[in-house]
Amino acid sequence: MEQIQSVKGMNDILPSEAPLWRHIEDKAREILNRFGYREIRTPVVEKAELFARGIGDTTDIVEKEMYTFADKKGRLLSLRPEATASIIRAFIEHQLHMVSGLRKFFLIGPMFRHERPQKGRYRQFHQIDVEVFGMNDPMVDAEVMYLACLYLEEIGLKGVRLEINTLGCTKCRPRFRTVLREFLLEHVSSLCPDCARRAYKNPLRAFDCKVPSCGEIVADAPVITDFVCDECVNHFDQVKQYLEELGLGYSLNPRLVRGLDYYVRTAFEIVTEHLGAQNAVGGGGRYDGLMKELGGPDLPGIGFALGMERIVLLLDQTLEPFQNGPFLYCVFIGPEAKKYGFKLVQKLRKEGFSVDCDYEDKSVKSQMRMAHRVGASYALILGEDELQKGIAQLRDMHRSEQFVVELSEIVNELHSLAEIEGGRRS
Ligand code: AMP
Repeated sequence: MEQIQSVKGMNDILPSEAPLWRHIEDKAREILNRFGYREIRTPVVEKAELFARGIGDTTDIVEKEMYTFADKKGRLLSLRPEATASIIRAFIEHQLHMVSGLRKFFLIGPMFRHERPQKGRYRQFHQIDVEVFGMNDPMVDAEVMYLACLYLEEIGLKGVRLEINTLGCTKCRPRFRTVLREFLLEHVSSLCPDCARRAYKNPLRAFDCKVPSCGEIVADAPVITDFVCDECVNHFDQVKQYLEELGLGYSLNPRLVRGLDYYVRTAFEIVTEHLGAQNAVGGGGRYDGLMKELGGPDLPGIGFALGMERIVLLLDQTLEPFQNGPFLYCVFIGPEAKKYGFKLVQKLRKEGFSVDCDYEDKSVKSQMRMAHRVGASYALILGEDELQKGIAQLRDMHRSEQFVVELSEIVNELHSLAEIEGGRRS
């Protein structure tokens, strides 16, 4: 029979990798809780038009990368390529600003973009997405960047750098777009076909082009920082000042633009030298007009998304994989011991211990080998003789020491061993 393989660019997260993923998620939830964020989970499928409006229909994401399909009634639906639009949709739909006063949200989950897969770039990938609504103060801009960087530091990621820029606002950006368009059109014959098109439709996107010859051209292009209005300059100055007060290092990158059209003022990226072409671990910025554009109240917004696959890739290089085996592995010899053991295992699990065994009547030797392989802390060995006497052997797998325990005392014994191990039962 022909083997069925996974979809290109969509990866399995195997049991050997899952603990690291869980660690990354647990740490995210913990730190986001400290900063006052609440978790939200939205469907992975939304109406296609949400993203066309929420991301911008001349962006690469919407033009080329969305998984869009018609359902049975012919309605166009898309797999979400990012989370901001979905969170705003949910916020508006459930009137969260009215009912709960909640303004800070996070979402952890898969996103889908039909990009050309390579290391660090996949078609299904996962993001930790963070959004704040209704706060204009530049302090908030500095705080979200601080949050993103502190999180990466706390999970042990080293060698990342924060880059920031201002993208101006709806008042000052149009003038820059015009000047940039004129510049690009002067060089249109040397631009790649995508950038030639972008020059007309969305000139800022040319800064994101990965084609080397386009990179050379935009290196001489005018930059937004020379065009922003006084209010935007003032906002950006304050953001920088707050970053300095928080002791957060950054570099200015006047060519930094974001993949969404609605970003205004602050934009930032967290980059690394260790991922080749895919150098961004995360990015975000302010999108003050977006909530209104999506039919909601005119509340400002700011947020960021971190790419979990990229975090995993970077941590893999710097961190020993950590994985707990079961606390106890039970080895039963003979049918009576097996029958007794079956109940004992469930009882110990109910007591809160992580316990495993197998029921395949293998030899003691191969069951003990299994206890080693799964990384158990202790092994309980129970044969027919021991069962008759009401005892079992308990083996400390790390120290290779073995002692006798009364079966009636096994629960207490395991609890005190767990205390010695710093409370680890599972
Ligand atoms: P974006 O939503 O494009 O600003 O992306 C935010 C972060 O998500 C990036 O910095 C990456 O870490 C991650 N990311 C974006 N696209 C992909 C992808 N195709 N594969 C893996 N990670 C991605």
